[in-house]
Amino acid sequence: MTAHHPQTRAVHPPVISPSGSRPLGQPIYQGHLFAFDGADDLAASFGGPDEAFMYARMSNPTVRSLERAVTEMEGGAGALATASGMGAINAVLTGLLRSGDHVIAQSALYGGTYALLQDLAERWGVEVTYVPGDDPAEVRDALRPATRVLYLETVANPTTHVTDIPAFTAAVRGTGVRTVVDNTFAPLLFAPLGHGADVVVHSATKYIGGHGDVIGGVAVFADADVRRRVWEHAVELGATVDAFTAWLALRGIATLPMRIARQSATALDLARRLGAHPSVARVHYPGLTEHPQHDTARRLLPDGAGGVLAFEATGGRDAGRVFTEALRLVTLGPSLGAVQTLAMHPASTSHRQMDAASLAAAGIGEATVRLAIGLEHPDDLWADLEQALAKTR
Ligand SMILES: *Cc1c(COP(=O)(O)O)cnc(C)c1O
Repeated sequence: MTAHHPQTRAVHPPVISPSGSRPLGQPIYQGHLFAFDGADDLAASFGGPDEAFMYARMSNPTVRSLERAVTEMEGGAGALATASGMGAINAVLTGLLRSGDHVIAQSALYGGTYALLQDLAERWGVEVTYVPGDDPAEVRDALRPATRVLYLETVANPTTHVTDIPAFTAAVRGTGVRTVVDNTFAPLLFAPLGHGADVVVHSATKYIGGHGDVIGGVAVFADADVRRRVWEHAVELGATVDAFTAWLALRGIATLPMRIARQSATALDLARRLGAHPSVARVHYPGLTEHPQHDTARRLLPDGAGGVLAFEATGGRDAGRVFTEALRLVTLGPSLGAVQTLAMHPASTSHRQMDAASLAAAGIGEATVRLAIGLEHPDDLWADLEQALAKTR
């Protein structure tokens, strides 16, 4: 073979695959395209999510590693990793629905999901019925011939409402309705596919990534054909995730069992201490006996009810705002599932457009403060909460 010019050699460096040893963890495959030795192999790679890697919007070894890890975690037939939690939710809903279809959704929903359903209703001809999520009879009453999807969340934000997923999936069994469950708040604590759900979605931005440095999502499917259909749609949408984000999410999974266990334990401890404090009117945490769905939580979440809790200071709307501003260790900010504890006062921030009546309809008090527990020592967190509560009086 004639030696090529330096200019040619520069763009064809040797590509090294390890031999004689192997990577301990999944490497980052940053390239967006893969090379083939045969035309038939290239042609076959267009065939589906599990064919040879070809183009990174379709798949990538690092992304597949994340998909396999979350598939094992949730006990499914396969997964789709996406560029955000909303990317997963959007790919699943618009991949399963068409104009004229009907959705039943619980009313306490992540804000982005609610906005998506409103958009699907207004612009795409999908009808949505919202139900409180307290009794499976609500679903039986709302069912129509056109119902295609039942959409639920394991633990809802910020009131920590717990939906009885096994009872709700049982209410649509045999009807052809697919149940989609957002399990962002309870990874490893609950596995919806084992309780009749068809699709589980996660914002990997939260507990799976776990360190406040990832925007990503995953959908896990009980059925391989449904996964294939949604995967094809996600490739059209361009919703799939990049290799570096997938790698960060994979690294997060390594410590997820320890983090979620610790965050749940600290959340229960602080929920109890808050409940006994004179400046606190009410605490929302599924692990407390006074929580409206405590019995369901004990059944569904026996190992811990997650790291998010909410409470209402006795001083009303102002007290909620004063409290979050007085915090020193706990960080004032949105989101959850990070290693740092985060606090937010929905009435003056995320839900500030709502008046007291619409806040009440959403189950949010004017004084409600949400805490997303991190990995700090519970005594240090309690000292900070106590000094901030003192300022609300
Ligand atoms: C954050 C969140 C989402 C959206 O996830 P992104 O990664 O921000 O797109 C969806 N559902 C729940 C419950 C969430 O907390």
